Amino acid sequence: MSYLPKILIIAGSDPSGGAGIQTDIKTATANKTYASAAITCLTVQNTALVGGFFTPDSKFLEKQLEFLFSDIKFDVIKIGMIGGAGNIKVIIKILKKFAAKMPIILDPVMVATSGDKLFDVKNILALKELVKIATIVTPNINEAKNLADQEVSTKEEMIEAATSIKKIGAQSVLVKGGHIDLDKNIVTNIFLDKGGKVHEITNKRVDMLVGIHGTGCALATSIACGIAKKQNSLLAVKNANKYIFKQIEKSQKIGKGSNILTHF
Ligand code: PLP
Repeated sequence: MSYLPKILIIAGSDPSGGAGIQTDIKTATANKTYASAAITCLTVQNTALVGGFFTPDSKFLEKQLEFLFSDIKFDVIKIGMIGGAGNIKVIIKILKKFAAKMPIILDPVMVATSGDKLFDVKNILALKELVKIATIVTPNINEAKNLADQEVSTKEEMIEAATSIKKIGAQSVLVKGGHIDLDKNIVTNIFLDKGGKVHEITNKRVDMLVGIHGTGCALATSIACGIAKKQNSLLAVKNANKYIFKQIEKSQKIGKGSNILTHF
């Protein structure tokens, strides 16, 4: 039997299935990897709105992670919505103990496509501690602004922000350009690699009247799948970008809000 690449997802639950743990598991499965998932927090949401979120005591996350690491040897870890500063401390403590050399893909989730807040920016310093141990961080424009503490509205500023985030300690940074209008036909993403080289990764902008839910979660997980399959970071990022672009083209409306990715 061939080797089974295994991903540990540490993220929040989205009961609509469009984002969070649910889309992460679908992404991992569609990309032929095995997903385990430790849940940080529970959201109330549908395709249109986030109705709130609840974060269990961080000891509960700690126990989930201890149980998993005492049993399974993962190839990569993907971190999404965190739920609070207590969980950040636990994640850092456990990863330093059990996964010091394991690649970590961090999606620094802050605000949902619907505009609802999923992260309290007063915890930004704690989040930066997580950035320090990340292999690849995948901020969108708003998250890049918050992490780099600067305006990001041009390609040059995307590169500057990626450079600042790398200086925090991340090995490499992908600043996603879907939310800025540098060109009405093309989306430009900036990938600053481990060696400090800048790569522009572009795709055609898909013209949509509605938003698409869960693309950030699925992109970071798709990168994690590539890393689990031993691709180098640049190839994993390029392949994940292609996967999400195809999924966006095939996205469907299942409710009153944003489209969702089907992963098939
Ligand atoms: N819900 C959860 C649990 C998430 O992790 C995320 C994003 O990471 C979202 C909702 C928001 O997803 P989107 O911004 O694509 O709507």
